[in-house]
Amino acid sequence: MKDAESTEISHEVKEAPITEHRIESLDDIVREIADRRLASEFRDSIPPERAEVVRVHPDRIEPTDEFEREARTAGIKETSGVLGWSTNLESPAHIMKNDVPTEIATLIHEDAHRMTHQETLREMTATPERRAIYEGITELFTQQAANGLHEYVPGECYPNEVGRAEELVTEVGEQKLRDYFFKHEMAKEVQRAIEQVEPPQQ
Ligand SMILES: [Zn+2]
Repeated sequence: MKDAESTEISHEVKEAPITEHRIESLDDIVREIADRRLASEFRDSIPPERAEVVRVHPDRIEPTDEFEREARTAGIKETSGVLGWSTNLESPAHIMKNDVPTEIATLIHEDAHRMTHQETLREMTATPERRAIYEGITELFTQQAANGLHEYVPGECYPNEVGRAEELVTEVGEQKLRDYFFKHEMAKEVQRAIEQVEPPQQ
């Protein structure tokens, strides 16, 4: 080291501050992988302050009995086939302990729910049909963020709903759908496209 200035190189490469997370357990590594994958796939759409709230309130990865107890307390009666659930941005999601790729994909899926813009969430949960499409979009985004993840098998969750979300991408375009999901932008255009792909009301 020749002079004081040569130690200042970190200033030049400094990026926006991100909370540093201590890695103290295997679950922390799993959460970190999910967080980084979601952040890098959707860096142009997820508002950084919302991602930060999720980091400050990290999801819980729970053994089956604890997962079921927590779900019952929250009023979720049926937990068979449920890998994870979440309520809102500020509350940690609950993820059932599983193989690592499934845990990572479930974390990504639930964090996408947590980060959904509130107004978009309201619109997309207004009817059972909308809710199904919302799950399809969430799972499609999960597949994109988890793409290439070691031993991850896409297509096991919400296959029909993902198909509908893919039709929606064809109608409106990938970026607009992402911006609607995370920022409630292009809402009118996306809503019109949803009407195109939605099954007719009974
Ligand atoms: Zn979901």
